[in-house]
Amino acid sequence: MQLAGKRAIVTGSNSGIGLGVARELARAGAEVVINSFSDTAEDHQIAADIARDTGAHVTYIQADMSKADQCRALIEKAGGCDILVNNAGIQHVARIEEFPVDKWDAVIAINLSSAFHTTAAALPGMYAKGWGRVVNIASAHGLTASPYKSAYIAAKHGVVGLSKTTALEAAGKGVTCNAICPGYVLTPIVEKQIPDQMKTHNMDRETVIKEIMLSRQPSGEFATVEQIGGTAVFLCSDAAAQITGTTISVDGGWTAL
Ligand code: NAD
Repeated sequence: MQLAGKRAIVTGSNSGIGLGVARELARAGAEVVINSFSDTAEDHQIAADIARDTGAHVTYIQADMSKADQCRALIEKAGGCDILVNNAGIQHVARIEEFPVDKWDAVIAINLSSAFHTTAAALPGMYAKGWGRVVNIASAHGLTASPYKSAYIAAKHGVVGLSKTTALEAAGKGVTCNAICPGYVLTPIVEKQIPDQMKTHNMDRETVIKEIMLSRQPSGEFATVEQIGGTAVFLCSDAAAQITGTTISVDGGWTAL
């Protein structure tokens, strides 16, 4: 198994892309830590289900990624990690002049600052082993902008910048850091945007999906969580050992436009 003997922590992995990435890493043989802030029976069941389906060792650790100390404690409680996937994220859509300050702070904390804290806590262990992979889930919105998503776009551009700096500091130590930039993937974070977009544009669900969301995605198709997970597994492979400080778009051609 490609990733046997490696421990992976995936932040925000009880749903959507994080769950898909956790599954693919487990399928590739990694030991996986599932995380969320909710700590429900369902969260623990998700870990048990992945373990049953893949044969991998999978555990659940609660941590609120909006809190610096909990981000760092997640890495410690797991006993360090070889693979860190910074995935936890939230979205809020509003005009800049109406953007609630608490929403701005939460989006920046969960989407950007959490990656700084977990990376800071994980790097010493990776350096000691001479091997590590930091995979940050950014977005096509880490490379381009859209109106009404100021905090998210600022955070995701920040994640791309943080990935480059991490890569430079880790260079030559066996540790790489890259950002995956997905286009639209049909997960709960996207589902939640559909009603707002329907209101803003006065459109029905199907028209919002086709004309607003997928209009930016030349393939006309959502990317899947399995495709994002497969990209993360590739970044953890030996073939990717010299890929560092860059972005990989999984966006159906969005950023080629
Ligand atoms: P999602 O809502 O399904 O998943 C978000 C995850 O973050 C959940 O597991 C949730 O538990 C976790 N989370 C939220 N707040 C948290 C907190 N305070 N502490 C710990 N965990 C927390 O959405 P998703 O689409 O799977 O998004 C995952 C990542 O992918 C996000 O960073 C998002 O920005 C990014 N992304 C998504 C898309 C897309 O189209 N779905 C596109 C580009 C990038």
